[in-house]
Amino acid sequence: MTQLAGSKALVTGGSRGIGLASVEALARAGCDVVMNHFKDAPKAERECHRLHKETGRALYHIDADVGDRTSARAMVKKAATLLGGLEILHSNAGICAFTPFMEIDDAMWQRHIDTNLSGAFYVGQAAARLMLDTGAQGRIIFTTSVGAFRSNPTQTHYCATKGGLHLLALGMALELGRHGITVNCIAPGWIHTDINDAQSRNQDAVEPWLQANCAAGRLGRPSDLQAAVLFLAGKEAAYVNGATITVDGGWNAQL
Ligand code: NAD
Repeated sequence: MTQLAGSKALVTGGSRGIGLASVEALARAGCDVVMNHFKDAPKAERECHRLHKETGRALYHIDADVGDRTSARAMVKKAATLLGGLEILHSNAGICAFTPFMEIDDAMWQRHIDTNLSGAFYVGQAAARLMLDTGAQGRIIFTTSVGAFRSNPTQTHYCATKGGLHLLALGMALELGRHGITVNCIAPGWIHTDINDAQSRNQDAVEPWLQANCAAGRLGRPSDLQAAVLFLAGKEAAYVNGATITVDGGWNAQL
């Protein structure tokens, strides 16, 4: 049973998909939550309103590009001001433009590095600084991917950023753990969200993939990630640091 009531949390990329599921789980567990989004204000406003009505918790949204260091750092500061502190960061924002390796141009490469890797660094460091300043026994969670450990055609650039993110988390875990702050990762498998909607609707591709790779026999849903978020965010997980929880229906277990 996690004790999260009254905790203050920030989730990046929080207006839809896995990020929204995280916001929902945290708010239902009693957290006040800031949902960062990128140019998605009407949806963010609707979701905050809905969740405030359902849970009674304070929910805020902030539009910011995590890949822009100034915006990212300002967003974390503003989140802490709105919440009156910051104890939980779920750094989740990410992009994946499925593209064959030889067609990846410099702009695409850079955009993936900026959003998926540098963005996590900007937000993670800014949040850690606040946690250190206030003595919070903070919880930092990164959404990596099973692609942090192995690659996939058309996802070379994406997987490179997620591999880097995994090691960013491990280094942070080592340095911040001494201050009671934990840094862990959640590595989703194939979760049907906007990031892969076209691929997920292509039954000709999905069915054979499920047969070959996924013991669960279905694609993941954003809600499948919620238990891992709550566990890693909880006070009881104080000794879990530098870990990854894979949430992939068994994909990663396949030889
Ligand atoms: P999604 O496209 O629904 O969500 C991505 C979120 O990130 C969106 O809210 C988007 O607005 C936000 N975002 C994108 N660029 C941003 C930026 N520059 N600044 C701030 N926010 C930005 O997809 P999702 O599947 O929910 O993805 C969430 C995370 O999960 C991503 O990091 C993704 O790489 C990771 N992931 C997803 C899967 C999957 O199969 N869906 C698998 C492994 C990892």
